[in-house]
Amino acid sequence: MRIDIITCLPKLLEGPFSDSILKRAQDKGLVEVVVHDLRPYSTNKHRTTDDYAFGGGAGMVMMIEPIDRCISFLKESRHYDEVIYMSPDGELLTQNLANQLSLCKNLIMLCGHYKGVDERVREHLITREISIGDYVLSGGELAAAVVADSVIRLIPGVLSDETSALTDSFQDGLIAPPVYTRPAEYKGWKVPDVLLSGHTSKIEEWRQEKAIERTKERRPNLI
Ligand code: SAH
Repeated sequence: MRIDIITCLPKLLEGPFSDSILKRAQDKGLVEVVVHDLRPYSTNKHRTTDDYAFGGGAGMVMMIEPIDRCISFLKESRHYDEVIYMSPDGELLTQNLANQLSLCKNLIMLCGHYKGVDERVREHLITREISIGDYVLSGGELAAAVVADSVIRLIPGVLSDETSALTDSFQDGLIAPPVYTRPAEYKGWKVPDVLLSGHTSKIEEWRQEKAIERTKERRPNLI
């Protein structure tokens, strides 16, 4: 899979992909994440990518031309399954959506900033809009990193068996059961006996029970 992220603040995306699982996924060649700075795609003298809003009002608006030029440039080299705009009023990110996107070959994610992008970008250049929640961030970079993370960890081979996504919350419609590690007792707080019993089927049964209990308690809408 290849993910191209378009932003006017590329530095904001340096951290999330340079460590741990997301870095290993790239090192293994399972995903390629390419961050594109919008600035070089601007044709004006100062390489600006935003301008005042028509009709007045506070906040700058990202201009269509650099965005269009960048997307067109990318599309010359490959077909994209989706051109996604990160937007607070987009479709809410869920595990189900992450699963769908993990089957794609090439994705573009466009990050807005300031007041957002010129509406004509959304009307003509974008195929899908995704929100990571009902709140407003200063820019789409962190949101794009969240979406990319949720998608990349689902690509076969990215997670080792022991961290398999299949046992994570939401994957089977349930919240994950609690987990414990050594020591078996800390300050008198004990790990449930069943987990120390070595009895695989009993452990599985306990985990299933806890998952259902937790889901009823915390996310009854999933049941
Ligand atoms: N004026 C817009 C908000 C702009 S916030 C409004 O009121 O809807 C600036 C940028 O941050 C947006 O263009 C978008 O790319 C990103 N962003 C903000 N909140 C987001 C969210 N919850 N999910 C995804 N992207 C978000």
